[in-house]
Amino acid sequence: MEFVDSPELTPEEVEYFRKKLEEMQQKIYDDSGETVQQMKTSNKGFPDPSDRAHLEAESITTLRIRDRERKLLKKIQEALQRLEDKEYNICEECDEIIRKERLDARPVTTLCIDCKEKEEQIEKAQHP
Ligand SMILES: [Zn+2]
Repeated sequence: MEFVDSPELTPEEVEYFRKKLEEMQQKIYDDSGETVQQMKTSNKGFPDPSDRAHLEAESITTLRIRDRERKLLKKIQEALQRLEDKEYNICEECDEIIRKERLDARPVTTLCIDCKEKEEQIEKAQHP
């Protein structure tokens, strides 16, 4: 994708990012469909207690993945909404324009690179 060198997104670029976000969303739905299927098939009675413990540990991992996916899904849906509101490439923090190349690499970001770096420095200072 060749981006136009302008602060506003062109209709083609809006379409490009919408498609990209929707594909990310679809991939999560597809993946989680698989996870649900796996849980169903592996759930057919294990009488051995050690097997059951193994199974429980496995479901905890599955739930953890799904929690992360859920958070990502929320971010994708918020990004689609911002796209709709024409705020997609506006930094939440400083109202500056987020570079299109940055959005291409990280479609759910809400911060420009400067604010992101600041945020990371603060996080590092809090958790050395
Ligand atoms: Zn910013």
